[in-house]
Order: sequence, then structure tokens, then C-alpha cells
Amino acid sequence: MKFRSADAFSGAAGYRLLPLRFRRLPWDTERVFVSSAAGDWLIMGHRELEQVIAGTIDQNSTLGMDLQARNMIAADPSRTTLAPLLSQMRSRKQYLQQGPSLHIFVVSLRCHHTCSYCQVSRAESTETAFDLDETNARLAVERLFEWPSSTLTVEFQGGEPLLHFARVRAITEQIQQRNRHEGRTLRFVLASTLHDLNDDQLAFFREHDFQLSTSLDGPEWLHNANRPRPERDSYARTVAGIDRARRALGDDAVSALTTLTQRSLSAPREIVDEYRRLGFHSIFLRPLSPYGFARKTGPRIGYSLADFFAFYREALEHILAVNRDGYPLEEAYASLMLSQLFTPFSHGYVDLRSPTGAGLGAVVYDYDGQAYPSDEARMLAAMGDRSFALGHVGQSVREWLASPAMRRVLDAGVAEALPGCADCAFVPLCGADPIDHYARQGDTCGHRPSSDFCRKQLGFFDLLLERTERADAYDRAVLESWALPRRSATPWQIEAA
Ligand code: SF4
Repeated sequence: MKFRSADAFSGAAGYRLLPLRFRRLPWDTERVFVSSAAGDWLIMGHRELEQVIAGTIDQNSTLGMDLQARNMIAADPSRTTLAPLLSQMRSRKQYLQQGPSLHIFVVSLRCHHTCSYCQVSRAESTETAFDLDETNARLAVERLFEWPSSTLTVEFQGGEPLLHFARVRAITEQIQQRNRHEGRTLRFVLASTLHDLNDDQLAFFREHDFQLSTSLDGPEWLHNANRPRPERDSYARTVAGIDRARRALGDDAVSALTTLTQRSLSAPREIVDEYRRLGFHSIFLRPLSPYGFARKTGPRIGYSLADFFAFYREALEHILAVNRDGYPLEEAYASLMLSQLFTPFSHGYVDLRSPTGAGLGAVVYDYDGQAYPSDEARMLAAMGDRSFALGHVGQSVREWLASPAMRRVLDAGVAEALPGCADCAFVPLCGADPIDHYARQGDTCGHRPSSDFCRKQLGFFDLLLERTERADAYDRAVLESWALPRRSATPWQIEAA
């Protein structure tokens, strides 16, 4: 990987080399992936790249024209400005124009489940000491409107937020009332097992146009094993909740997420088939996070990234087969990555931003009135490490932004300035995740060669580029369609807004 500065020489062919980075393709080492500073890219032969850098490519050749169109070379050094390149960079980083749009309210830590990988450090379902109280909820709503974002996505989380539905209702009504003169665009999301849904709640969700997000890990045996309840009825209750919510709110108002344990890796096709059987058109195959109970149980339920990608490849092939069979189904993480690769815009997904989405794209208001720049920061605090606590809802947003925690996040929050990332060909399309690196490696900057975050990103970029290259026309059209905005809003799409 190399980076050539904008002031690089003009070669014999008379063009000026603009900033670019490259990566040798793992599946064809004679060719390279070359990216511009704004994330436009080309795949070309290694010899051709040497000629480009030597300044000997004919600018009127097909490759020469391609390089100009992608702002990798400038044809007339005396007249060309960097304006088109900068305009592209502005489009990719458009999310920086606003403050955080995702606001997570943790209304209770209570939960009925005892999942071994739980990321939220749940409490017993009767312990109301872990509920967000009225005073802190009111202050959190005040803080919400201190942010400048024109769109505010309010996501209620837990534990199980339906166990403290009165607070969900009160906060929603306070926000709606305040918004009469604020005029923001509001979206409401509730992340729930859906086990405890009742008619009163559904009527409220319909009135306020809620999106419901639930967890579905796959077929019954797998879901029940991952999400134990004494009655062993977790799957049946989730499916009943999905059905009930769809009948009340419409199919598009309900989405589901998978959590992949070691057990899940043996069942890629079964998990995909379950999503199809239940009528979902999106599935999010995400590996376990190193937080909460997952950290303690990691050796028992965790797995290597190599195991994850073996699973993922098989699942992706099956998803493509399902699409060939006439049933539209996307894999959500692939969609995010493909939208980076095949569109000039950023998806803005908070975990894949640079500068980081922590505190700049999302804020978490915890049950005890503490604020965090991300859910991961909250989980670390629940495990006793408060390094990323911004402050209390009784303080102003200005104080949070000036906190040592926020400074620490921002210091390591720009991927283009991080060791390893700065030279990487994927950096204009990737993200910085300082809190993830702190959690995994004890250092917000992290060490990219041994970083699971980086290996995951490289793995996805390589896999999707290779798969798109060898796709037939039908599969390619499917993969490219995933890069486009989706028909219905899913939580990760909302997160990106
Ligand atoms: S995290 Fe890895 S893949 Fe992403 S920009 Fe950094 S070095 Fe590249």
C-alpha cells in the first residue's frame, strides 16, 4: 500500500498524479485495487499501476480516461483544481454536516432472558432500581433537543423496554410535545423481544409510527438455545410477537437481527431459510461483540474470524440462491459495504464512519442518567470501565463535548490519520472505531495488523469485491441492488440517517 501526494510530479505523459492508495488483490496478485482520496476506485494490473505512477500512461487511453474520471490523475497540471475531488469527499462525509441523529434511551435494564452473550448487562425482571426515572428522562429529552440535527431517531432499548413501557410512552409524548415548536423530523424505534406486546402498546406504536426491531437468531432450536427462558418458549413468543406486530403495524414496521454464537455457525442455511420462511427481506449476519456477558462467556460461545467468514460465505451463497429463486433477500452488512463501494454517498452507519460515529453520530442516555457516545461505551461502563462516560443528563451537551471521554474518542476517531489505516486502500470507505479497539486491544488507536475490526473489514471488502467480480449478470444485479436505498427502513438504515 502506498500513498502519493497531490504534489507528485508530472511524468512524461504530462499529467499530475493525485492522491491514491492501492492494495494487491488476495485472489489475483497480478492485479491491484486502487482508490482515490474520495473513495472512487479501479482494479488494474500491477504493471499498469507502475506505469501510472511513473507518469507514462497515455491520458487518452481507456485507462487514462478512467483515472481522470476517478480523480486519480489530473490531465492538465496547470489548470486542474482539486475541486471535483473535494466535492466527492464532501458527499462521502455528508453526515458531518449535522450532529448525532441516533439517540438511544435505555429505559430499563430489566429483562426476562438470561442470554450468555448478552451485551447489555441485564438485571432481573423485577428490579425496578434499574429503571430510568422521571427526572432523568425529562433531562434527557432536554439534552436531545440541544443537538442541532434536523432528524432525530429515538431508539428505546433495554434490557427489555416493554417492561418499562410507561417511560417509553412518557418520553415519546414529551418529545412530540417539544417538537411542536422545534420542527425536527422524528423517528421512533423500539428494540424488543416483542414477548410482552399488548393491544394498548400496539395502538401507541401505530399512533407514533414506531419501527419495531427484534432479535431472531434462526430456527427454533437455535433461538431457544441462544436465548434461554425457564419455559424454553423464547422462539414461539418472538414469532408470535412478530406476527402480532405485523398485523397491527404492517410488515415493513418490523425487522429482526441475528446474533451469531458458535452454535449458529453450523447452521448458515437454516438461519437464512428461517428468515425467508417468516417473510423477512433483510437479514443482518453480525459477529459477536466483545462486550457485556459475551466477554465473560467468549471462550465458550465465541469463534475466530476465520470461522465467521467460512459461515458467512456459505450464508451469502445461499442468500444469492434464494434471490435467484425469486425471493428478494439482502444481507445487511454486505449492503452497507456495497453501498460504500458502488455509490458515491456514505451510508453514515455509525460504526463505520470516519470521523467516528461515537458521539458524533449517536448518543446513549442510560437508565441511571449517564450519557455515553455509543452503546459499546455504555456496556464497558456496566462492566466497571467508565473511560467513555460523557457526563450526566443534568449537564449540558457542551460539557459532554468538552469531556475527557469525548476528547479521547476524537483523538483516535479519524481513520485517515491512524497508523495502518492511513496507508490502506480501503480507508475512504472504512471507519474508525476507537471504543471497539479500546475494548479489544486496550488502546483507542489500536494495532491494525492484529485488530479483529480491521480483519473483519478487510475480509468483507475482499470477499464482496471478489464475489461481485465473478458474479454472473443476475447475481451482480442483486449485489448492486443491495447498495441502493432499501424499500423499508431497517434499524441499521435508520442508524445511518
Ligand atoms: S480498519 Fe483496516 S480495512 Fe479499515 S481502513 Fe483501517 S487498515 Fe483499512
